[in-house]
Amino acid sequence: MPVKTAAIIGAGIAGLTAALSLARHGIRSEIFEQAEALTEVGAGLQISPNASRILDTLGVLDRLRPVWLEPEEVRLVSGSSLKPVASVPCGSFAKARWDAPYGAAHRATLQKVLLDAVSGQALCTLRLGQHIDITSKKALEEIAAQEFDLVIGADGVWSKARAMVPDAPSPLFSGNIAWRFSIDEAAAPAILDKANVTAFLGSSSHLVCYPIRENKTFNIVAIVSGSSASRDWDATGNKAQRDQMLRGFAGWNSDILRMLESQEQASFWPLYEMKAGRWHNGSDAVLIGDAAHAMMPFAAQGAAMAIEDAFELAGMLATRSPAETFELFEKRRAPRIARLKQRAAFNQFAYHARGPIRLARDLVLSLRPPQSLAADMDWIYGYRAIG
Ligand SMILES: Cc1cc2nc3c(=O)[nH]c(=O)nc-3n(C[C@H](O)[C@H](O)[C@H](O)COP(=O)(O)OP(=O)(O)OC[C@H]3O[C@@H](n4cnc5c(N)ncnc54)[C@H](O)[C@@H]3O)c2cc1C
Repeated sequence: MPVKTAAIIGAGIAGLTAALSLARHGIRSEIFEQAEALTEVGAGLQISPNASRILDTLGVLDRLRPVWLEPEEVRLVSGSSLKPVASVPCGSFAKARWDAPYGAAHRATLQKVLLDAVSGQALCTLRLGQHIDITSKKALEEIAAQEFDLVIGADGVWSKARAMVPDAPSPLFSGNIAWRFSIDEAAAPAILDKANVTAFLGSSSHLVCYPIRENKTFNIVAIVSGSSASRDWDATGNKAQRDQMLRGFAGWNSDILRMLESQEQASFWPLYEMKAGRWHNGSDAVLIGDAAHAMMPFAAQGAAMAIEDAFELAGMLATRSPAETFELFEKRRAPRIARLKQRAAFNQFAYHARGPIRLARDLVLSLRPPQSLAADMDWIYGYRAIG
């Protein structure tokens, strides 16, 4: 029986992309989102060509491109000396090599363009203010007073939808804490680059910075590893937590340190990643995006994977039953996600290297031309999702 209707839990990047992707195949969806309104949650996102290609197919890239930034390069720079370590070309190079652009925007901007497209699509219905905590499709059907062919859990790292899936993955604290804030371009230190993505590297920390064109700010994510934390780490950071974070940047460039010290309104995010587990129950419930496989942001691919998941799942559902689709979906997606998690772990090792390993890293990277570093990204950015 072809799939006609799906329930989607969560209107984040995964859930909204899933609704649009399903509509492309004539499948109706009902999205249940706990928030009363989709407002500015999160911070900046780099949107790599593997994801922007899908956004283009879904007809939303044209709405994003006028407002996002297309950097010329992603630069790796020493956090102490500011010496360039390496760079990966983006801009027109990305379009030529990977056949799709590389951009950066606020998460809220991406969510808004997806939301606008969903709102204009007759096959998609969004129900706000619906916190869903269920263990079966039937339970959701009772809440919604309608039947669905399947439920897609796209409710993020603290997913409740996982309760529908036996042996589902569970979140594990990664030992990394992200410190996220934005700073007005006018108030930012001059060393911040207004045209590119810069990753400043330290010995147990790194800091990624890029301009957000929409509101003339810089998006800053500073990540410190080797921390202990819990889910309820104070999001605004008490003094002890701020001091703990600042110690991770000892010896850094003084302008960067001053910028960090002056951030009183910052949010701290203990970073969780998903342990291995099943993504579906074999019949009528499946997990996508962070709910299935939240990963460390060291490869900047979590949202891209959510977009790929949503698009490929919908393509498979167009011609298969949910049960057949789920087997195929996990078989196709799991190796790619596992490889990306390995890449993120390698990047963490390389970004936070210290002592002789750091010297070796800098030497090896400095000998590699940007084109060769770009070739390393082919399997990530050149991936063509089947939808
Ligand atoms: C510091 C940092 C930097 C990052 N940078 C990048 C980057 O540059 N590029 C990139 O691709 N990725 C990046 N990521 C990863 C990316 O943000 C996530 O992977 C992505 O947002 C996951 O999307 P999602 O839709 O799966 O989950 P979410 O964005 O968490 O969305 C889940 C939605 O479900 C809703 N919800 C939750 N529970 C319920 C419930 N019980 N009932 C109803 N609704 C519910 C939530 O309100 C939310 O709207 C970064 C992550 C971090 C932490």
